[in-house]
Amino acid sequence: MLDIHLISTTDKEPVVATDDLYLRYMAAFEASTGHTADCAACQADQPCQTGQPLHERLARLQDAYSERQSRRQR
Ligand SMILES: [Zn+2]
Repeated sequence: MLDIHLISTTDKEPVVATDDLYLRYMAAFEASTGHTADCAACQADQPCQTGQPLHERLARLQDAYSERQSRRQR
């Protein structure tokens, strides 16, 4: 999963392993999608008790991460 770092690395702004927000975002992404892969309820957009917090966490981190990215581009 750490290979993803290379994809988003640019000359201007290398994504480094110490990027905590990015790592938490990736971890949340894996947890959420990993759960959904095995959960019929979450696949049907009706999050179960286990999946709900995973999906919410991913959404929060996704917002925080993309907001930070857009701020940096200005
Ligand atoms: Zn679920």
